[in-house]
Amino acid sequence: MKPVLNRKQPCGELSIKDVGRSVCIAGWVEARRDLGGLIFIELRDASGKVQLVADPQVNKDVHDKLSTLRSEYVIAAAGSITSRPEGSQNPEMPTGAVEIYPQAVELLNTCRPLPFQLQEAHQVDEALRLKYRYLDLRRPEMLSNLKLRHEVTQSIRNYLDKQGFIEVETPMLTRATPEGARDFLVPSRLNPGHWYALPQSPQLFKQTLMISGVEKYYQVARCFRDEDLRADRQPEFTQIDLEMAFTCEEEVMTITEGILQSAFASAGIDLHLPFKRLSYNECMQRFGSDKPDLRFGFELKDLTTLGRTCQFNAFRQTVDCGGQLKAICLPGLANSASRKQLDSWQTFARSCGAKGLAWISFGSDGVRSSGISQHFTASDLETMRSLADCRIGDVILLVADKPAIVANVLGRLRIKLAEELNAIDKTAHELLWVTEFPMFEFDDVENRLAAVHHPFTSPHPDDVELLNTTPLAARARAYDIVYNGVEIGGGSIRIHSQEVQEKAFAAIGLSHQEAHDKFGFLLEALESGAPPHGGLALGLDRIVMLLAGCKSIRDVIAFPKTQSGACLMTGAPSSASREQLAELNVMMADSR
Ligand code: ASP
Repeated sequence: MKPVLNRKQPCGELSIKDVGRSVCIAGWVEARRDLGGLIFIELRDASGKVQLVADPQVNKDVHDKLSTLRSEYVIAAAGSITSRPEGSQNPEMPTGAVEIYPQAVELLNTCRPLPFQLQEAHQVDEALRLKYRYLDLRRPEMLSNLKLRHEVTQSIRNYLDKQGFIEVETPMLTRATPEGARDFLVPSRLNPGHWYALPQSPQLFKQTLMISGVEKYYQVARCFRDEDLRADRQPEFTQIDLEMAFTCEEEVMTITEGILQSAFASAGIDLHLPFKRLSYNECMQRFGSDKPDLRFGFELKDLTTLGRTCQFNAFRQTVDCGGQLKAICLPGLANSASRKQLDSWQTFARSCGAKGLAWISFGSDGVRSSGISQHFTASDLETMRSLADCRIGDVILLVADKPAIVANVLGRLRIKLAEELNAIDKTAHELLWVTEFPMFEFDDVENRLAAVHHPFTSPHPDDVELLNTTPLAARARAYDIVYNGVEIGGGSIRIHSQEVQEKAFAAIGLSHQEAHDKFGFLLEALESGAPPHGGLALGLDRIVMLLAGCKSIRDVIAFPKTQSGACLMTGAPSSASREQLAELNVMMADSR
């Protein structure tokens, strides 16, 4: 039946200025209270809530109707806005100064008993929220996350549009686009035995677009990666993907800074440009991480020179075998760090792969330590303090091991210490470019070199020859953008010479034949007048999650998947019928 009352006004925008106006509103019944004959309804729509009141003395018909309403029934109501009586205003509610005594109420739909009360959603199991996602999304917090996501995306689109970028859609049914994850495959009915891959990113298409002469491309791009999911990963996610021809690192970074400035402004955060920059090596040396959180200190100090000359065998032998001795200094903790705390940091360091964690506390009344101070002369201790920037009253925590282990252990310990010691400035917004990543790393599982970014990343111009000789020493023209210790995007200047691209493929173990089978189209395109080009991609879900202050990206994605890749609402993935499989020429390995 066609509703009689037509909604003309959002609930949440009514204020004292509207008193006397007749309005027609509609929404969901959030709460009903019966008080001394009066019935109060909180009516909610996407804009907010307003209070309806029915007095049986004034309008019995409306009162009777309201008395039958239950949670999440859908109604429309018409009436005029009145100001609430003295003392009953609700300053917590944007419309809390007004209410409506409806003259007419129409029931638009009922609602079955809910699997959870919307107000209690934060206490229920997330699986229940995901199964009934349409209810979960009715909650104002969730709706406001979706609105923020829209505003962030819109501001990025506007910014890129003003900079002359055009949005180009690239295919979802494509060939494997190597970003280091597993592909989702889709069988091709028309080409039996052949499969499409869903794109891990539009990487090869955006490079092709540069060769086509589209000089400034962007896309709000859906990407698919079949990985084992961690809390902040989804099998499908969204990137702000861009690429420019005739560009350089400086230009990509400047554009990205503008994008992020507009995006953060949508969440009321004012970012100062330009962002800080550090090379990958400096990050690893000073913070033990390629995505350091700069909201706090606790930098790693290099004591390797002391390790080499001191009398403490454990340190000296490690350093002699190519290891490092590094420390974190905790200012002012000599008297306050408890034994229990120090023990717990040692346990943590071991759980991260350290053989041990030593500590020395330089109290005003003398030196205490984890049983190591007797191995050091007074002058060694002086040197140690000076190398670690440690004053009397401070504690230092030391790890000696292979450089990669030292970085991993102290890098993770640094974050734990900052959290435990409340050293993080929660109001800070620290954005950092990390540059000059290595081109390759050794993949122990595959027992070969793998590209740190992807194999289309250009080597540093001085390091091209290293691709043939010592590829692990080659630096890449790659950059990541890090926000408060979280990587929110990354990209590179690409290889635009066919010859260099062949070298990069060879370095990761692709034979000439394999390279041509998989990427022949790219190699040919590179020989067909490819301009120098580069770009980057930003992780939209993660950025919105951080701006919304959420802990999980699932809270900023309308219909996310669980850790096992399932959509609990629709039941995807689901089995396929024999007929469907036969049509696709696909056979199940196990037909039990
Ligand atoms: N395609 C890359 C990624 O998904 C980003 C880029 O290099 O532009 O990480």
